[in-house]
Amino acid sequence: MASSPRTFKAIVGAPGVRGKKVSAMSKDGLTAFIQSIISTEQESKEPFYVLDMGAVEDLFAKWNRNLPMVQPFYAVKCNPNQAFLGALAALGSSFDCASKAEIESVLSLGVSPDRIIFANPCKAESHIKYAASVGVNLTTFDSKEELDKIKKWHPKCALLIRVKAPDDGSARCPLGAKFGALPEEVTPLLQAAQALRLTVAGVSFHIGSGAMQFIAYRQAIAAAKIAFETAARLGMPKMHVLNIGGGFTAGSQFDEAASTVKAALLDYFPNEPGVIIMAEPGRFFAESAFTLATNVIGKRVRGDIREYWINDGIYGSMNCILFDHATITCVPLAGSSNGGDPTCKEARSYDSTVFGPTCDALDTVLKGYRLPELNVDDWLVFPNMGAYTAAAGSNFNGFNTSGILTYLAYSN
Ligand code: PLP
Repeated sequence: MASSPRTFKAIVGAPGVRGKKVSAMSKDGLTAFIQSIISTEQESKEPFYVLDMGAVEDLFAKWNRNLPMVQPFYAVKCNPNQAFLGALAALGSSFDCASKAEIESVLSLGVSPDRIIFANPCKAESHIKYAASVGVNLTTFDSKEELDKIKKWHPKCALLIRVKAPDDGSARCPLGAKFGALPEEVTPLLQAAQALRLTVAGVSFHIGSGAMQFIAYRQAIAAAKIAFETAARLGMPKMHVLNIGGGFTAGSQFDEAASTVKAALLDYFPNEPGVIIMAEPGRFFAESAFTLATNVIGKRVRGDIREYWINDGIYGSMNCILFDHATITCVPLAGSSNGGDPTCKEARSYDSTVFGPTCDALDTVLKGYRLPELNVDDWLVFPNMGAYTAAAGSNFNGFNTSGILTYLAYSN
């Protein structure tokens, strides 16, 4: 699908973003795009991201095809790249923000505050005051203490009670140990909100990021229905928002996840046109949209083993290996000194270790990974690097993750 000029215009000029037009983006198109950046704009050989605008549009269309009844609130924490946020805003996404800074960055795009949920069940007082001052009027809670803070600083805010549904135990990042009211806590929390005359508009949950067992969506939607019924029994105003959180990935599993959600909505919330269904997808939109290009800055040969140093690593974009339990892959860029045979079929390949640039041995990106012979100055390209990567990178040892530039790939 082609990116629309409207989407493109909305994002060029964002901080840290370089616009660059290419046509007919295919897999080869991406390689050619990276090569053209290296030859024209990358004298310093710094690592850089490519954001594939066509991929973002395709993902948005895929979401709408499969879950047309669920309004996406993109989870900014997953990747706060301003160009990416701008593209999603132009496509019609709303946003899940977890902090004052995330709200500020979404508002700076011209997004209206009613397209933002402050989806952090435990918020600092100053962040609540800020949300109140800019008109972000929807948030989550899972404790009495949070209700007290909201009553004090933002009493007009509508609330979603975050429930702890059974986690998908196999999710890459389960969240249930930290967030969500236990089943026996739901009634007292709703009563506490009622006593404070706060508005509980609905229920939210998150089954875990990188979920694999989609039955967890069904169980969570069932738990949400119980909370809706409890509120009605307590005589509270009718709940009308169901927030099914994140946990979605964009691969072939998405069809199964979406079917499970749709079937559960039909079973537990049939004939309820007044109920707004929303979600907070992060990984779904971000993961495959970004590709990272890194430069080989060092090499050591130890017998049959090849060791390489690249200029991004565990303290930077590849922190996803530690925090997001990610498995990452890379290919040498075609045109590198190895001849660019990413399949390693023609060139001889070696067990290779790829180190990040810092002075910590923990900073090891890949070990025992088959690569053809590379040389200093070659480029290694990492696909699917958009989710929970640069977002959590540091500036350790002076390697500045937040300074990594993003180039826009734009097909027309
Ligand atoms: N919503 C909340 C409250 C989260 O904590 C997270 C991730 O931690 C997300 C949404 C995004 O989840 P995902 O990237 O799995 O879609």
